Amino acid sequence: IKSKIGGGEQNLTVVLRIRPMNEDEVLLRATQISHKVGENMVVLMDPLEDPDDILRANRSREKTFVFDQTFDGNATQEKVYDATTKFLIENVVTGYNATVFAYGATGAGKTYTMLGTDNEPGIMARALNDLFLQMEKSDDMAYKVTMSYLEIYNEMIRDLLNPGSGILDLREDSKGGVQVAGLVELKARSTEEVMRLLMQGNKERTQEPTAANKTSSRSHAVLQVIVRQQNKARNIMQEVRTGKLFLVDLAGSERAANTHNRGKRMVEGAHINRSLLALGNCINALTDKNGKGYVNYRDSKLTRLLKDALGGNCKTVMIAHISPASIHFEESRNTLIYADRAKHI
Ligand code: ADP
Ligand code: MG
Repeated sequence: IKSKIGGGEQNLTVVLRIRPMNEDEVLLRATQISHKVGENMVVLMDPLEDPDDILRANRSREKTFVFDQTFDGNATQEKVYDATTKFLIENVVTGYNATVFAYGATGAGKTYTMLGTDNEPGIMARALNDLFLQMEKSDDMAYKVTMSYLEIYNEMIRDLLNPGSGILDLREDSKGGVQVAGLVELKARSTEEVMRLLMQGNKERTQEPTAANKTSSRSHAVLQVIVRQQNKARNIMQEVRTGKLFLVDLAGSERAANTHNRGKRMVEGAHINRSLLALGNCINALTDKNGKGYVNYRDSKLTRLLKDALGGNCKTVMIAHISPASIHFEESRNTLIYADRAKHI
């Protein structure tokens, strides 16, 4: 892999974040089965095979995956932000679109990376903070930065900053741009304000208990940041460029089959699988050098919404998340395979 994180020419960056082992996992005597090796690699061990089986060399129980960068439990929020999102700010300010996805099973650390906590803010607040700083720096340009925060649950869009507004429609404008009709766009000014709005919005997300987890996010949460640039030099404020940054906390990727879901849960699982599959297909098609891949954005609300931020000159970053614990081997393996598939071709 030649890619230089951030600045390089490549349009797709795939990184992996392994969160620290948590108390529950320690109590269940889980062992650590994934290890970061160097800057790019992760080794995953299959815990189900008998370690005393001397006929099988250690090697056969291990699988190695290579990404643009790998982070383990020691990586700070700042480090992850710097490697995945900071470099996109310049693109968005100059009128290009970009997307950052957090992918992984429930509990793997997606929301921690994207939203974080008051003391350890994640990518969303950091990106907006950098945009505010950028705006202050510029003399002859005026920037207007707005944020919207929505969820897609069972192919229905709801405004997380204005939950009373019900189910919203996706519309395409005359220029082929995609818009969510009636979605609130807020002008936020400080990182604290952004964090407060996001935390509040996150409480509105559709969270339902599944057999696997008490609180599992079955919805995709999408922070849409729009940067509108105007020329100050003229008397008439003329809009020059618009750049969009999508920061997406995807629904848990664990398969419906794994959580013994029935009825309503099974429907959710199918919708989640459909959008994650559509997303994977879109990303695959974009990286397909032979041009064979047909990008079918219409397959899901998620890919329709992101249509003008995937492909072309847009930059896409996927942050795959896994737990290091042996009890989550299946999920971790599935996540690594999905992320690996996005990367290659
Ligand atoms: P997900 O959104 O993928 O379901 P969360 O982000 O909610 O998972 O993470 C599950 C738990 O693990 C949370 O309590 C979160 O604070 C914690 N956690 C996740 N990643 C990290 C990390 N890198 N460092 C410390 N704690 C983490
Ligand atoms: Mg979450």
